[in-house]
Amino acid sequence: METNMDVQIQDAARLIGRAKRMVVLTGAGMSTEAGIPDFRSQKGWWKQIDPLSVATVEALEDSYDLFHDFYSYRVSQLAHIAPSPGHRILAQWEKEGLVRLVATQNVDGLHQLAQSERVAELHGNIGTFRCHACGTAAEKTSFAEKKRCSCGGRLRPNVVLFGESLPQQAWTRTAAAIEEADVVLVIGTSLQVAPVNRLPSLTDGKLILINNEPTGQSNRFDIILQGMAVKLLQKISLLI
Ligand code: NAD
Repeated sequence: METNMDVQIQDAARLIGRAKRMVVLTGAGMSTEAGIPDFRSQKGWWKQIDPLSVATVEALEDSYDLFHDFYSYRVSQLAHIAPSPGHRILAQWEKEGLVRLVATQNVDGLHQLAQSERVAELHGNIGTFRCHACGTAAEKTSFAEKKRCSCGGRLRPNVVLFGESLPQQAWTRTAAAIEEADVVLVIGTSLQVAPVNRLPSLTDGKLILINNEPTGQSNRFDIILQGMAVKLLQKISLLI
């Protein structure tokens, strides 16, 4: 017997299969099945400290050892990680002309590793580094060894910390694509982090959410598929 969920999956597949200007907006839930934990659904996983309290400019400037521990751990986590089948499905959809842009809050680079080419990294990338004071690019090993820049500044990954603005180009590109989108597919985000959580409201197109728990803004979405991203993307993919 067909369930309500089956019907919703078919509806999503119909919209995605016909999309000409789809934007996919991803969050940490896109990468959990690749082995990278998200922040909000796994409380206290990291030294009993809320990761969000370490991902700040204040932590970098006032508690560098803690900041460094946290980001070194996250950088090392990525060393043996590969994209999930979900990342690969999105890359395949881009090749088929269904996806115009993947805009991601993730800093792990997994969309690019899966061969998505049109990717906007709204919160930066954890695989490259710079001086916090003068902005000069730095090597990963220098960051790992807690070296300072020649100007004396602290080294940091190229991620957006709480208290910093988003990269202008990624933001403008994403906002423009979402304004023109016929479908916006949001995957694996609690939609709690501003300003990214304002992006879905910019579209006049259809809004689809894939998330394994209810999020805010549920009333905005035309289709809500509650479940794991990989399984749902695989089911949709089979119907396109
Ligand atoms: P979040 O942790 O606030 O929310 C993730 C959401 O995804 C949760 O609602 C969770 O229930 C859901 N989810 C988890 N696994 C899922 C799965 N397999 N299928 C479907 N849903 C799943 O993450 P957020 O909204 O992206 O915001 C957190 C911030 O932390 C972002 O700014 C991001 O930059 C950063 N972050 C990035 C990474 C990464 O790069 N992989 C990891 C953790 C946090």
